Amino acid sequence: MISVEEHLTRILETVQVIRPFEQGVLDAQGCVLAEDVKARGSLPGFTNSAMDGYAVHAADVVGASDEHPVVLPVVNDIAAGNTNALSLAQGQTMRIMTGAPMPRGADAVVAVENTDGGVVKVAIRAASVVGQHVREVGEDVEEGVVVLRSGTLLGPGQIALLAAAGVARVRVVPRPRVVVISTGDELVEVGQTPRFGQIVDSNSVMLTAAVTSVGATPYRVGGVADDARTLMATLEGQLVRADAIITTGGVSMGAFDTVKEVLSRVGTVQFDKVAMRPGMPQGFGVLGEEQVPVFTLPGNPVSALVSFHVFVAPALRAMAGRPEPSFPPGYVPAVAAEPFTSVPGKMEFMRVVLDDDRARLAGGQGSHMLGALAAADALAVIPADVTQIAEGDALDCLPLLGREGQ
Ligand code: AMP
Ligand code: MG
Repeated sequence: MISVEEHLTRILETVQVIRPFEQGVLDAQGCVLAEDVKARGSLPGFTNSAMDGYAVHAADVVGASDEHPVVLPVVNDIAAGNTNALSLAQGQTMRIMTGAPMPRGADAVVAVENTDGGVVKVAIRAASVVGQHVREVGEDVEEGVVVLRSGTLLGPGQIALLAAAGVARVRVVPRPRVVVISTGDELVEVGQTPRFGQIVDSNSVMLTAAVTSVGATPYRVGGVADDARTLMATLEGQLVRADAIITTGGVSMGAFDTVKEVLSRVGTVQFDKVAMRPGMPQGFGVLGEEQVPVFTLPGNPVSALVSFHVFVAPALRAMAGRPEPSFPPGYVPAVAAEPFTSVPGKMEFMRVVLDDDRARLAGGQGSHMLGALAAADALAVIPADVTQIAEGDALDCLPLLGREGQ
């Protein structure tokens, strides 16, 4: 039996960051930048108005007030999108909209709220100072400067900056492409009614969702029969499009545990008993010329999902170039809302419902129990040497993926 940490360490020492690839900015969402990116242009690219109002020479509105408005002729309207280079003479004004280019000569904008809103002539009721309500060229970003560094995770804000700075394509670490395969003669496809002795293949849809939740791209292969040839052919066929493969089922001590049987022979996949509950039988290794990492998870749905959280998710994040805290990955603190017992000698991952930071068990803890799994918010991680939890004890919890809409 090996420890959870040992198994995870072996996995993280094996997986590698995926080779960077140039992507359009829209497709780069959720990816990590693999280059420093410089702005191709300045932001703003031209001096423009920060308000709807009137472009003026500040000197023309000195002393303007409610009692003593300054009246100026309105000689033009400048809307956002106006591409003409205009000039404003002294003693005149132009109506200008937010984002519209400032006319040459104008050095301030009087907000429309401080005027009578006139279109032929306008009464200006407030003084202005040079630069007021004016966005200067490059005040946000200067052309040529590095705007985002290699290693930055790209979200909507970063993507907006890239697009605005004229960068349409960037080198990023691609999202890992993850093939999800279920094994078992008992499996029927989602939507089909299982006959006596059959069950719906819920693992492959669960893990497909889990893969999406960590920002990777899933390719779901339906259930594969417990047949060595079929399984090997499926694996070989999938290798071309996979950065990683996840299988479920067929890794324990049963007579038809095909995954273990087939992959043990290959020699590059190692099967271990990991001191954890659920999820004790685990396999990990690489397959094919490209050394594609393969995670062979146990078949019980709860075991498979716990294994995903504990082993696969950190590996996928590492492959995507994301900084990952070492073990434990992303625990949140909680306190036990009730006493419970835990198995000795194994790290136990108990499904819990969190009420603020108070954790209570989410019903039956059997590794086949999807009802309790679906009710749970997090996995309370009970160390191998702890067997009794009292009410009020501190707990480390691993939030379940997707519970916040990822
Ligand atoms: P195994 O690891 O193949 O011995 O399977 C352990 C348990 O998990 C059995 O009760 C299986 O029926 C169940 N199981 C295996 N694969 C799946 C699956 N894809 N979806 C739901 N349950 C499964
Ligand atoms: Mg099976």
